[in-house]
Amino acid sequence: MRVNQIGEFALIAGLKRHFKLDASVKKGIGDDCAVIDFHAGRYLLLTCDMLLEGVDFRRGEDLRLVGRKALGCSISDIAACGGKPRYALVSLGLPPGFRTRDADRLYKGIAALASQFGVNIVGGDTSRSSRLIIDVSMLGIVEKKRLVLRNGARPGDIIFVSGALGGSIRGKHLTFKPRVSEARFLVEHYKVNAMIDISDGLLQDLDHILTQSRAGACIFKELIPRAPEAKSFREAACMGEDFELLFTMGRREAERLCRNLRYRFFPIGEVTPEKTGLRLLDEKARLLDTRRLKGYRHF
Ligand code: ADP
Ligand code: MG
Repeated sequence: MRVNQIGEFALIAGLKRHFKLDASVKKGIGDDCAVIDFHAGRYLLLTCDMLLEGVDFRRGEDLRLVGRKALGCSISDIAACGGKPRYALVSLGLPPGFRTRDADRLYKGIAALASQFGVNIVGGDTSRSSRLIIDVSMLGIVEKKRLVLRNGARPGDIIFVSGALGGSIRGKHLTFKPRVSEARFLVEHYKVNAMIDISDGLLQDLDHILTQSRAGACIFKELIPRAPEAKSFREAACMGEDFELLFTMGRREAERLCRNLRYRFFPIGEVTPEKTGLRLLDEKARLLDTRRLKGYRHF
């Protein structure tokens, strides 16, 4: 069997069987961050993201933006768990002819976002590679009572997204602002039941919440906010790299959230019992086929 036959998710699930976790691990593989119990009142959040030339960005792309994206992906995962990003290690795979001037540009992008979000770059590793690779490992912190995982969605919850979706390939995947302030606002003032950041497409990432929460959902096509760069509904539903938050909360909390004046969040549907699966309805309440709306997969 080869990895492109088994698929990314089954591959990762299969790797789990190689190790045992001790009691300090509250959450291992399967969420936006690993969650470590190290303190009476707080959890450590750990996440890493690897960006490859030709896969996650094109050769010739502005390296400041590439650096920004490399750090931004991990910051976004910390936000998705309700935490604050704090420390990062940055590892590089560099072609031997890579210009030092370009390495500086890359780090300018990294440093600008790091300082904006209070992240300390405390080390990394450097190696030779045929193509540019940037790998960021990040550590964040969250108060125990404010941790949000993917598995807490309950039937009756309202499903929200934090912003417009789709068309990110035309620029936003390099310039997005990780939603830390929004996530902190949510966990500090509301009871959020489940949350994820949309990296692989709305429907695919919603499916992660539903699978882990053993729930279904009903979402409405016309409620899904579409970015101006999105050329079609399909792009808004499954293109990915939007790095918006997708989250659920009980109806009362949701009504309270809709009255807040600080941030705009968009309700797109409701969590339902598991047996109904994920349903997408159009403006006339007709059921749409979601099978062709698959999100991003590496394999
Ligand atoms: P995200 O899109 O939020 O960054 P991913 O889809 O990359 O999440 O990863 C999903 C989960 O699988 C995470 O818990 C991540 O740590 C884990 N994971 C991904 N690749 C590996 C790997 N090679 N070994 C162990 N765990 C992995
Ligand atoms: Mg994520």
